[in-house]
Amino acid sequence: MTDSTGRTAIFPGTFDPATKGHLDVIERGARLFQSLIVAVGDNPEKESLFSQAERAEMISELVAGYPNVRVETYRGLTVTFAREAGADVILRGLRNAADLQFELEMAHTNRAATGIETVFVVTSPQYAFLSSSLIRQIAAGGGDVSALVPESVARRMRDK
Ligand code: ADP
Repeated sequence: MTDSTGRTAIFPGTFDPATKGHLDVIERGARLFQSLIVAVGDNPEKESLFSQAERAEMISELVAGYPNVRVETYRGLTVTFAREAGADVILRGLRNAADLQFELEMAHTNRAATGIETVFVVTSPQYAFLSSSLIRQIAAGGGDVSALVPESVARRMRDK
């Protein structure tokens, strides 16, 4: 049997912005895999609040203390990036049935097309209702997001 701790995984996402829910997945992924790449995507269909470079920079600050985690940006297909990065696993977080519905389709398609496996971690309960879009809505309405995102992210939200 192959040991999952010998593997490299990517954790792809938009991270606009990174939340405590994302960080929770990263922390747990860092324990599960030998090497974890947080892959900050550039989805032309999603208009983002922060640029791809800003999103990557924010996460880089947050994961600086994890020796086996690094952050990279990519364009195009996630599976192509995974292959180029030498990763054989895609790590994703699951919050609810809506996530599951969407993620199953992606995981099936990616595996059928390239053989790559997707591994899911279920959200920690305190973050089950947390999403980047919710954070953007609260911030746009002038609300306080400091309980839901790391302090460095809250500061950047206030600056925007
Ligand atoms: P994407 O556009 O790829 O969905 P996101 O930044 O919204 O990018 O999410 C990236 C990953 O993080 C997804 O797998 C998502 O399910 C997971 N995720 C987001 N928020 C949470 C949370 N609160 N708890 C657990 N996983 C989460």
